Amino acid sequence: MIQNFDAIYERIQNAKNKAGRTDRIFFTAVSKTRTADEMREAEKISWIDFFGENRVQEAENKRDSYPESKIQWRLIGHLQNNKARKAAEIFDTIDSVDSVELAVRLNRIAGELDKKIPILIEVNTSGEESKSGIAPEKFSELLDVAAAQENLSLNGLMTVGPLTDDEKKIRKSFAELRNLIENARISTGLDLPVLSMGMSDDFELAILEGSTMIRIGTLLFGKRFYPPKQN
Ligand SMILES: *Cc1c(COP(=O)(O)O)cnc(C)c1O
Repeated sequence: MIQNFDAIYERIQNAKNKAGRTDRIFFTAVSKTRTADEMREAEKISWIDFFGENRVQEAENKRDSYPESKIQWRLIGHLQNNKARKAAEIFDTIDSVDSVELAVRLNRIAGELDKKIPILIEVNTSGEESKSGIAPEKFSELLDVAAAQENLSLNGLMTVGPLTDDEKKIRKSFAELRNLIENARISTGLDLPVLSMGMSDDFELAILEGSTMIRIGTLLFGKRFYPPKQN
């Protein structure tokens, strides 16, 4: 059940104050493993902007049992090429584009569905093998391809910080994503407003490093009781 939401809001404000920021920081409620009823409850909180899901099948089931949801649903988990069509049908935004092949495929599918798909590029800034996202060395190639696809609308970047208590390492990984987006704005001429970084354990550090979208699951809904499978 929903918990701590006043405390979360306050922590966001405090982090913004500490960073000297007054701009808007979007909030993605990470609803993977949660029921449609829990999502209904979350959607009542006025400052929740999006839901984030990491599995296509799970999201499809929940969309069916929660058709009245009025906020957008974002795919934040790794997307396999063979699930791209289904994902394009179900999600409002795909935040985990991490290969040239996937970008090209999504563009083709978007054309067939006669729509434009908003996307983020996910970058692996932590260097952890287990994490998805394109390696920073390969980022510029994917950036050029993604920016050029006429049926995709590239809105920014996403990363997952390293699994560590070392604040310096975490901030370094977030700062790297911020550097990449700043350079990408110049090289593409696009606005790229979305810098999606920061989760339950590290969102304050992400706000200090310029995050414009945090993704919070555990802190809002409580501990997850089964590990989400890969989609
Ligand atoms: C699960 C997940 C989150 C939320 O993690 P919490 O630690 O529960 O806040 C955020 N982003 C991604 C990509 C996730 O998979």
